[in-house]
Amino acid sequence: MKQVIVGGGLAGLVAAATLLRQVPGKDILILEREVTLGGLLAGAHYPEQGLYFDRGTHLFRETGVTEIDALLQKMAGEENIRMFSSSQGGHAGAIYQGRLQHNSHFPDVRQHPGRQAMLDEVWGVVAGTQPIRPITTFEAIMDVALERFGEAYVNAVLSPILSQLFKRPVSELAGFAALLCGLTRLVGCDRQEWLAKCGDGRFRELVAVPDQREMPVSFANTLRRYYFSGGTAGFVESAARYLTAQGVRIIRQARELSCDIEARNVAWLDERGDAFEEEFAQLILTNGVVGAARQLNIDLSSFGFERPILHRLVHMQLACPVESDLCYFYAFDPGFDFFRITNYRAFSGDPDDRRITIEILASEHLADAELASVMEEQLGRIGLCRPGSVLWFDVQRLHTGFPVPTVNNMKAMRVLDEHLQQSLPAYVRLCGVGVGGGVFFQNEVIQNVFQTLSNE
Ligand SMILES: Cc1cc2nc3c(=O)[nH]c(=O)nc-3n(C[C@H](O)[C@H](O)[C@H](O)COP(=O)(O)OP(=O)(O)OC[C@H]3O[C@@H](n4cnc5c(N)ncnc54)[C@H](O)[C@@H]3O)c2cc1C
Repeated sequence: MKQVIVGGGLAGLVAAATLLRQVPGKDILILEREVTLGGLLAGAHYPEQGLYFDRGTHLFRETGVTEIDALLQKMAGEENIRMFSSSQGGHAGAIYQGRLQHNSHFPDVRQHPGRQAMLDEVWGVVAGTQPIRPITTFEAIMDVALERFGEAYVNAVLSPILSQLFKRPVSELAGFAALLCGLTRLVGCDRQEWLAKCGDGRFRELVAVPDQREMPVSFANTLRRYYFSGGTAGFVESAARYLTAQGVRIIRQARELSCDIEARNVAWLDERGDAFEEEFAQLILTNGVVGAARQLNIDLSSFGFERPILHRLVHMQLACPVESDLCYFYAFDPGFDFFRITNYRAFSGDPDDRRITIEILASEHLADAELASVMEEQLGRIGLCRPGSVLWFDVQRLHTGFPVPTVNNMKAMRVLDEHLQQSLPAYVRLCGVGVGGGVFFQNEVIQNVFQTLSNE
């Protein structure tokens, strides 16, 4: 009997591969509403310019679960994978206190005037006996951070950064906000002191190595990062080939999809408006908790969701490559209107790669048309590009917006997820973004899908 998967993004593709892993040759149908598969991983192609940009996520990282990592490598095709060693790839920096921090993306407070008070409190936490509070997706970041780092660091560093990035009072924000930009530690001492103290796991939990390239091998994350020839769109193409070779039917442009759960039937229109339907034994909704709820005509107005933040990507081709091996730069200083820059040169394997993508959250005051010049000026201020060096650009608006990382919004997501999980029959599975109240990052999505479906 047929298994129907709604959504052909990362979650949908991994769902199909997971089901096949159990029983090869299963009767699986993927229904994707867009022309291209892949969701966020589909990337943005500009054939006239001969350019391609990812549209959100870039590098993948091994999960550490052998079966999952092997499955993803099969989907991607090993020959298409550019694997980095465990200490390579994915390094990020930040714009903080008027300079470009190359050594770490964690705020480096060593030059901060309030440094001593911050460090006294942090050393106090390290020396204490209470477990160090982990930053979780949905708890109020202030509650966790004050216990974790103490007042001085939170008030002088963390709060201003988070409210600048998300344009919300930090009192409203959840841990998700800090996780999105990896604000889980600080840089507070020199290498000698760090090496002297790093044997203590509590210290390492809060205090980052002063230079990310000098992480002692014994503490380096052993899980490797990888990228694909053809970017994330290359992954999607290979995954689609892998699945179709095993008999999975993939239908693109499946519009106005409707699911009759009781009758176990899905119906949709194709690109010409012709109607189709299929019966299913199992329905797997991978279009995110909110997408699935819409699919099932659930009224979302009573759950308390906040309006998503305006989310724009500015793809640029520069005259010269960015002179840095960092993949990402976060903007922690006021006066910068972007969230993160991605430097493709750092992971594409092409030393002359001149592509960057700038992610801009909120910043409604900036019109699309002025983004390129505003960004050029802001990048110029920190030496990332010179005047006139933007050769080409395009602004993409992500139509779903970005989920505002507030406690209220996270709570709404959890309540909706619980509601769906309780009300759906066992033959309907929900996996992917938003499940468990907070699955978001690609490895969370992959693991959630795999765990949900690996016994089906
Ligand atoms: C800007 C940005 C940056 C990110 N950066 C990172 C990062 O650095 N690291 C990281 O780990 N993660 C990152 N993520 C998260 C990562 O991109 C997601 O975890 C992952 O792409 C989610 O895949 P998905 O398949 O669940 O969702 P999507 O990619 O949204 O795919 C859902 C698919 O379902 C389809 N669909 C929806 N509704 C229907 C319907 N009714 N009928 C048929 N099809 C439907 C959509 O068209 C789409 O193809 C980022 C996300 C964004 C937006």
